Amino acid sequence: MEQPSHPITYKEAKTIIRNKFHPTWQASNRTLYNHKEPIYKLSRRHQTTVFRLRTGHCRRLNHLHLLTVSHTDECPCGSGQQDVENVLQQCARSQTLRADTWPTEQQKL
Ligand SMILES: [Zn+2]
Repeated sequence: MEQPSHPITYKEAKTIIRNKFHPTWQASNRTLYNHKEPIYKLSRRHQTTVFRLRTGHCRRLNHLHLLTVSHTDECPCGSGQQDVENVLQQCARSQTLRADTWPTEQQKL
């Protein structure tokens, strides 16, 4: 494709691309996502956090080790591989935060 003879800025290129593909993106978005699901009531930031926790693509050592950013995938507390499940359910270092965040189990009558 022949290119324009004058250079454009990154912002101008971004605007051109957005204007060209925005209608297509909107149409595909409507069919891909059910916006009545509760997750869509969260902010974008919180949706991103949930996505990262579900997929394991976050800064836990098992993922960083996979990316060769960390030399180990073992949690410093010694409870095993530091993944999302470990941090949310087993890690001794997160015990206080878990107790403060989640309700405790009620006693059975
Ligand atoms: Zn731990």
